[in-house]
Amino acid sequence: MRIGVPKEIKVHEYRVGLTPMGVHELVAQGHELLVQAHAGTAIGYEDEAYREAGARIVNDAEAVFRDAEMIVKVKEPQLNECDWLSRGQLLFTYLHLAADRPQTDALLASGCTAVAYETVEDRQGGLPLLAPMSEVAGRMAVQAGAHCLEKEQGGRGVLLSGVPGVSPGRVVVIGGGVVGSQAARVAQGMGAQVTILDKSLPRLRELDDLFGGRVGTLYSTGENIRQQVAQADLVIGAVLVPGARAPKLVTRDMLALMPRGAALVDVAIDQGGCFETSHPTTHADPIFEVDGIVHYCVANMPGAVARTSTLALTNATLPYVEALAGQGWRQALRTVPGLAPGLNVHDGSLYCAGVADAFGLEL
Ligand code: NAD
Repeated sequence: MRIGVPKEIKVHEYRVGLTPMGVHELVAQGHELLVQAHAGTAIGYEDEAYREAGARIVNDAEAVFRDAEMIVKVKEPQLNECDWLSRGQLLFTYLHLAADRPQTDALLASGCTAVAYETVEDRQGGLPLLAPMSEVAGRMAVQAGAHCLEKEQGGRGVLLSGVPGVSPGRVVVIGGGVVGSQAARVAQGMGAQVTILDKSLPRLRELDDLFGGRVGTLYSTGENIRQQVAQADLVIGAVLVPGARAPKLVTRDMLALMPRGAALVDVAIDQGGCFETSHPTTHADPIFEVDGIVHYCVANMPGAVARTSTLALTNATLPYVEALAGQGWRQALRTVPGLAPGLNVHDGSLYCAGVADAFGLEL
């Protein structure tokens, strides 16, 4: 199959759909790869590396879209890119259509077949192509929080690890799924004193096993959250209620209980945020203060570490790209467990119930 990898054009998006290693694998399987010039330059993958892996470098984005039978991307296509998609062409990328009516309409109008990373499932019903970005965001949350605690950022001037003779910082993680467990792991590794709260007892048991008791676990109730937050230097919000906006678990009145200059990192901000005082921020201006508490609420945290994020994402996507390109999408959807729910759009029709519900459209 002829597979195209365009350069991402969304603002501050430096990730790329395939690494040279991925290209190498696909070329070895007999596929033809078209990679747009400079698609990976921002994260250290020069055109030469793609060429050496067997790709043809194409200068023009439109030519990549028009000539390829399958497009592999990271972000949803922008509207001008949708114009270049055509009937019979396969698109494999993050789409998040339920939040984006213009893009949904444009993809339907194009007639293309679009498989979305975020709705592919694994055998347990988990989301294997979202998990790598949650891993990145969870680990990064501690790094971001540590930065927020520095005086220059308005923080209280606490080093999370402490030093010999000085107590470490206290980190409270609300939600112990992928983001929360990765955050706890990094915070604990730095030497901080960490507590995770979750609503799921089975998950708390798993976390207790995982950390061998080196991280505290606590059932998530309003009162437990209030008590933990009151003592915290850093609170990380990592809850997810599938298909719903994040619940507001830390209310504004709780901020008054916290030490001045403590920090809140709301990773769940892409689902509306789990702190009442959160609002989405960008990497260009990530931090703001409410009632003396420093907030970090960047909705696309993995974008800041685009090289690591690209590697993590493409490790997860490559087996699906291989199956889709090798078997064709119809056969791959039948044979690869969990790939079928990835189909969102085909030949002008919607195939994802969540998207259809969001816009009152027919499936
Ligand atoms: P997950 O499903 O793996 O984990 C969510 C956890 O929250 C589950 O363990 C669940 O039991 C727990 N939970 C639900 N309600 C709770 C409550 N009231 N109190 C405590 N725990 C509760 O999800 P995840 O992959 O870890 O993602 C967490 C959030 O991070 C999501 O909103 C996701 O979209 C977001 N995220 C944001 C970024 C970013 O850049 N900002 C990047 C990746 C993921």
